[in-house]
Amino acid sequence: MTERYVLAIDQGTTSSRAILFDHSGVPRASAQKEHEQSFPKAGWVEHDPLEIWERTVEVVGSACAELGVGPSEIAAVGITNQRETTVVWDRETGEPVYPAIVWQDTRTDRIVTELEEDGGPDRFRASTGLPLSTYFAGPKIRWILDNVSGARERAEAGALAFGTIDSWLLWRLTDGEVHATDVTNASRTLLMDLESLAWDEEICGEIGVPVEMLPQIRSSSEVYAEVAELPGLECVRGVPIAGILGDQQAATFGQACFAPGTAKNTYGTGNFMLLNTGEEAVASEHGLLTTVCYRLGDAPAVYALEGSIAVTGSLVQWLRDNLKVIETASEVEERAREVEDNGGAYIVPAFSGLFAPHWRSDARGVVVGLTRFVNRGHLARAVLEATAYQTREVLEAMDADSEVPLKELRVDGGMVVNELLMQFQADILDVDVVRPEVIETTALGAAYAAGLAVGFWESTEELEANWSEDRRWSPQMDSKDRDRMWRQWNKAVTRTLDWVDDDVR
Ligand code: ADP
Repeated sequence: MTERYVLAIDQGTTSSRAILFDHSGVPRASAQKEHEQSFPKAGWVEHDPLEIWERTVEVVGSACAELGVGPSEIAAVGITNQRETTVVWDRETGEPVYPAIVWQDTRTDRIVTELEEDGGPDRFRASTGLPLSTYFAGPKIRWILDNVSGARERAEAGALAFGTIDSWLLWRLTDGEVHATDVTNASRTLLMDLESLAWDEEICGEIGVPVEMLPQIRSSSEVYAEVAELPGLECVRGVPIAGILGDQQAATFGQACFAPGTAKNTYGTGNFMLLNTGEEAVASEHGLLTTVCYRLGDAPAVYALEGSIAVTGSLVQWLRDNLKVIETASEVEERAREVEDNGGAYIVPAFSGLFAPHWRSDARGVVVGLTRFVNRGHLARAVLEATAYQTREVLEAMDADSEVPLKELRVDGGMVVNELLMQFQADILDVDVVRPEVIETTALGAAYAAGLAVGFWESTEELEANWSEDRRWSPQMDSKDRDRMWRQWNKAVTRTLDWVDDDVR
């Protein structure tokens, strides 16, 4: 028998990837392409949905070509995606009516403030598990309908479709046949009820989103459709598309966090920690989100508590692209090693306000503790440390909500190659940090969801056996130093608050 694979499409914030995984969960071929990030105004972040589609087709073709495989060797296709990023397109022509509004974009802060006036920031939390924030898709859809001429009427008439990136890709992959999303992506819109797993029509009405434009909500692991006959996608023609998970839920799945109480933290553009809470949707009292972790076919949904941090790896990009202190992202570690410590400098990157556990859209970034002594090495260190402190804020909230302190943290994502950061993370958390053998956990999770639906893998137990540890960092820092730095960080955070005034929005 020839060897068979599952193809994962990982459409992330900065790039699209396609990875072919074998039965042991080992990546055997992959391709990656970046897409353009556009920042038309302060606080605005956009992508071109058509460019995303083109890059996706290209990377799928390249990954298949690398192994020389076609439809008979590919058991299923799984999709994972940057979440919350919002696309609205014309059902007839397939043309987006506006660029994709990316999850980091804060243009909806007025809409959010207006919605908060009646019922406060937790107005929709009981149904959706989420606070009102510019982060989620609902307000972004409303903005497009308010600002693109004629869009609201066309949406109400059923001529326009909304989708997060998973729906957009599924619709394209099926040549316009299937307009659907999975429960994990739907749980990030502020429009889905967590218990019924259906659109909450009352909330849709209050936010101003016509239900006619919403995709059908499906599970994370089932056959949605087969890939249509499309140019550039000959290698997957007719292959079942059988798994969809938002990127963070996919990473949780790929890290084999199937048991309640297991957690992972992904260090990418932002950081996202998810704790599996089993079949119970736990309401957070400490600034976390309640979200769907995954749903396999007809089985009950599994929920998670999530701590989302908007800016971690993107602060490294900022140091590189905006300040030009480094030339490549990995150089941040060399620079940081030039000095003993942060020299008293702290950077709180509240570029999109502060997400978990603060949820303050009025916050903006600060660099504090500057003296004549501080040099680029200290700044590089402060950049890396910011990721670790923000992670501690979220971990403390998680411990408080779940009442069971985490014993170790499973990590993945682009930043976990940074040894200095990983050691500092263990030091500042005072828990072990563990990196798995396969760090492409996002793509792996999507592959797992798709493979389970078609019987390529039998059970989650089988997937658990594929997980193995690569490296472990244990705390070494003196507790006095830990406490002092933590105190300073918290003080720095207070300096970001209440910065945005109405007339500078
Ligand atoms: P995403 O999936 O969100 O696009 P990735 O998981 O690919 O992100 O991670 C990319 C992020 O990791 C970038 O923001 C980049 O700045 C950061 N990064 C990459 N290499 C390093 C490194 N050696 N040290 C610190 N940060 C890094």
